[in-house]
Amino acid sequence: MEGSEDGLAALGRIEGELGEVERALARLDEGSYGRCRVCDGPIPDPVLAADPTVTTCTAHGPTAGPVDGPVDEQLDGRPGGDPPA
Ligand SMILES: [Zn+2]
Repeated sequence: MEGSEDGLAALGRIEGELGEVERALARLDEGSYGRCRVCDGPIPDPVLAADPTVTTCTAHGPTAGPVDGPVDEQLDGRPGGDPPA
């Protein structure tokens, strides 16, 4: 069932992206689209063009450092510890 697991993983990722787009559309409706959720400042057009679902300005984006906690923890993707016999 490895193939279907890949399909489910892809589906989950797509559903996550769809949720982000739906939230972006909701912000568009309420007039807060394109504004930083931290400082309420305008998000530059090139940033929105690169990622239309972004919710923070360049000063508060994920690349500018953590806003509400560390998000850059390393995930070690090693499989189970049993070596093949
Ligand atoms: Zn900001």
